[in-house]
Amino acid sequence: MSKLTFERPIIQRINAGLPSKYGMPRRLDPISHIDGTSIKSLLDEFGSPLFVISEQTIRKTYKEAHRAFSSRYPNVQFSWSYKTNYLNAVCNVFHQEGAWAEVVSGFEYQKAIENGVPGELIIFNGPDKSTDDLRLAIENNSLIHIDHFDELYELIHLSKEMGERPKVAIRVNMDTGFYPLWDRFGFNFENGEAWDALNRVMASKTLDLLGLHTHIGTYILSTDGYRIAAEKLASLAVKLEKKYGHVLKYIDLGGGFASKNTLRGAYYPGTDTAPSFDDFAEAITSALMSSEIKPDHLPMLILETGRAMIDEAGFLAGSVLATKRLADGRRATIIDVGVNILFTSFWYDHDIRPVEAVSDQSEDTTIYGPLCMNIDVIRGNIMFPLLKKGDHFVIRRVGAYNMTQWMQFITLRPNVIMLDSKGKPHLIRKKESLETINSLENTPEHLKNFEL
Ligand SMILES: *Cc1c(COP(=O)(O)O)cnc(C)c1O
Repeated sequence: MSKLTFERPIIQRINAGLPSKYGMPRRLDPISHIDGTSIKSLLDEFGSPLFVISEQTIRKTYKEAHRAFSSRYPNVQFSWSYKTNYLNAVCNVFHQEGAWAEVVSGFEYQKAIENGVPGELIIFNGPDKSTDDLRLAIENNSLIHIDHFDELYELIHLSKEMGERPKVAIRVNMDTGFYPLWDRFGFNFENGEAWDALNRVMASKTLDLLGLHTHIGTYILSTDGYRIAAEKLASLAVKLEKKYGHVLKYIDLGGGFASKNTLRGAYYPGTDTAPSFDDFAEAITSALMSSEIKPDHLPMLILETGRAMIDEAGFLAGSVLATKRLADGRRATIIDVGVNILFTSFWYDHDIRPVEAVSDQSEDTTIYGPLCMNIDVIRGNIMFPLLKKGDHFVIRRVGAYNMTQWMQFITLRPNVIMLDSKGKPHLIRKKESLETINSLENTPEHLKNFEL
């Protein structure tokens, strides 16, 4: 038996009821395995830190979301939001499950094409579509969601020049009770701009209007906004049918469902506050079905769910670099995961757990990343067990936005692996090296040498 490590006794003030509605936080249970595979063995094989994605969890979440909507509505289609996580292996799990691609740039569009998504199953959103992007999307029969009048007029021009009939939808922004309003994308509903844009599309005769789209925000904790959004889009669909006899093929409610992560400073944990897929589905589908749209003209319902679909499947494992005391005596733990690779720690209180069984003692701790930057804080304040140098931890629910918004800053981006349904690891993105970075740089001849 190895000798137990000494733990300094500490005196803690008890703040009754402060941490959550359950009173004092309980012990943080270690997480030693993901899908039956030991995290320690993965760190030994692939290095620390390490992103781990559970294929099983993606498929399970997708099926749950799909069932929630398709059991309530006759025609449902999910489209994978590339910017949420566009690692090809991740996208392809969603495509295998039946999701189309939803992209917001020429780069993402190319990625979807290279993954093998048929052009007509790619939804092209976003304010930045170059003329070349638009040409390609028109040639491929993709679904172009128009963001502003400049784009609308350019599409009309291109349709004439190319002799093609681009498939389009109008992106609509609206007041759904969340403030500040997300009014920078698309055409506004309340001031009549969306209706104006629709009339111009119809008048052009060269654009094929297939749908209406909205994306009301992100990490939305209330289902009511979706009910309002669905009602407003349905009212536009009804107006179009009344005035032009035009029947839409689809209504796209975008993304935005909250994942089970906890927002920084939130009183209740996200696991208690995030509505379920069933809750969102109930709000959206009942609004569409009880609208004035004729039952045999009910459009396909498209959803571009991002974070709620992938957050749960992502883990970030790593190692403790050091522990120290701050000037006021508080405990600080420094880990090898910083805000550069865990971007979402700016707005989430991430669930971070030890990997190995640890001491029963917890102490108010600040968890810092490895960057030489004051803002590199992973958890400002957490009752955390006393981990020491070399111990391992794992951060849960990091599948959304981190592997796309991560920065190469001070350190390099680590390996990403996916555990298949049997728990077998596959390297899906190699860690960066000095060569990766240097291969993009060029030093002019006169700067190649120096003497010191
Ligand atoms: C980002 C985005 C999504 C995904 O949003 P989530 O909040 O991750 O669900 C869907 N549609 C559009 C147009 C987006 O920009």
